[in-house]
Amino acid sequence: MTDRVTVVRRAAWTVAWDEGASQHVYMQDADVAFSEAGILYVGPAYQGQADEEIAGAGIMAMPGLVNIHCHSGDEPIAKGLFEDVGTAALWGNALYEYSALIDADADAKAACQTVMLSDLMRSGVTTHLDIASPAPTWLSLAARSGLRSYLAPGFREAQWRMAGSHRLEFEWNEAQGRERYGEALAFVEEARAHPSGRIDGVIAPSQIETCSEELIQDAVGHARSRGMRITIHAAQTMAEHEELLRRTGETAPAMLERLGVLGPDLILGHCIFLDHHSWTRQRSRYDLERLASSGTSVAHCPVTFARSGMTLESLGAYLRAGVNVGIGTDSYPFNMLEEMREALICSRVSGRSVFDIDTGSLFSAATIGGAKALGRGDIGRLVSGAKADLALVDLSHPSMQPVHDPLRNLIHCAADRAIRDVYVDGKAVVKDRRVVNLDYDGAVRELQDAQRRACRRAERDDPQGRPLSALAPCSLPLHR
Ligand SMILES: [Zn+2]
Repeated sequence: MTDRVTVVRRAAWTVAWDEGASQHVYMQDADVAFSEAGILYVGPAYQGQADEEIAGAGIMAMPGLVNIHCHSGDEPIAKGLFEDVGTAALWGNALYEYSALIDADADAKAACQTVMLSDLMRSGVTTHLDIASPAPTWLSLAARSGLRSYLAPGFREAQWRMAGSHRLEFEWNEAQGRERYGEALAFVEEARAHPSGRIDGVIAPSQIETCSEELIQDAVGHARSRGMRITIHAAQTMAEHEELLRRTGETAPAMLERLGVLGPDLILGHCIFLDHHSWTRQRSRYDLERLASSGTSVAHCPVTFARSGMTLESLGAYLRAGVNVGIGTDSYPFNMLEEMREALICSRVSGRSVFDIDTGSLFSAATIGGAKALGRGDIGRLVSGAKADLALVDLSHPSMQPVHDPLRNLIHCAADRAIRDVYVDGKAVVKDRRVVNLDYDGAVRELQDAQRRACRRAERDDPQGRPLSALAPCSLPLHR
């Protein structure tokens, strides 16, 4: 063997994959050996080649987290603007009237992506699916980061337009949408051909309500002919839900079922407002079964929506119905572990029970659930033969002490603070809490000016002509 082998020697705790039981299990005092080729061994007393040894006392080795829904394009500079606003007539959602006004310019795209990738890695993520408009450095930055990347260039035929502060309208331009679709197809082929072998493309009609049925069917057909995943935002807001009802009388899963596009290669972003959700007018419960029986996956991103007072009802209920659910961060803070904590809490609040979901099931969703959504049996698990995508957790961090159950401490208390090292394909992408391959600090320094420029454009583009002080009033008055 010519590969350099790293061994975590006698890790205090290891989250290992039990192939027979098809579940994660805890091991104590196990060795974890890996190289660029993958995980070589997980178990007691490894005897083989060892070029680098890491002392495992005070360490938990766990599989890297799989984030199946995030946006690098503009979200890092949307921070701090619209957390306290929403459109009352659109169920309090801030997406159409506010968030859609913030776009990073070409100069800010690389900084936004760098910050997102860095924050994800620092919270234990080793695989991510990024839905964005292709910027010139999108592919090269993803490759340089060392992360396993699924790049999904979004395209759509309709733009959202707000009429006053109460009505969402759609401005259709099919020709332009088809042009973007063509560009997306070219981009995903370029991504898939990248020599790193860590990058794949995903076909992404942006939103179910901004693409024609024909475009969705064409895109899904193309993805299937090329063996690619498909992701679409669906059932993400009540405004979308009501628009689909107005157009077809269907919920998002019902419409996608009629179009013949549900399936194990389809990942639906958010999937909150299904027929059983208490905010909808439906009095049926068919949608979860539609998703479960077709094998369609849901990308659950609780934080962005919980900030606006919304959540799916409930994550536990989706899992009990047999729906495959993975976790995504969607927007900032791009902290996968905090996202997982909020997923667990939202599930118990909306399910009105501590028994709605347990920590182990949530951890499985964030690893195995995401891996299944991406069609991968070789990530999200620590087992011989899997990719060497893993995170080392510092059990000596104050927020991890005392240790009875390290995953509970990590998810309920410590989050990213306890993530020490992160490896993808056996190579460190985070070492001693520092991002290895990207200039995180430099990118963070660019955010302030990038946000100022974006805010000036938002003031210019706001259909109601509001100044920033009215669009995004500060949370406290400024003392004069
Ligand atoms: Zn999204």
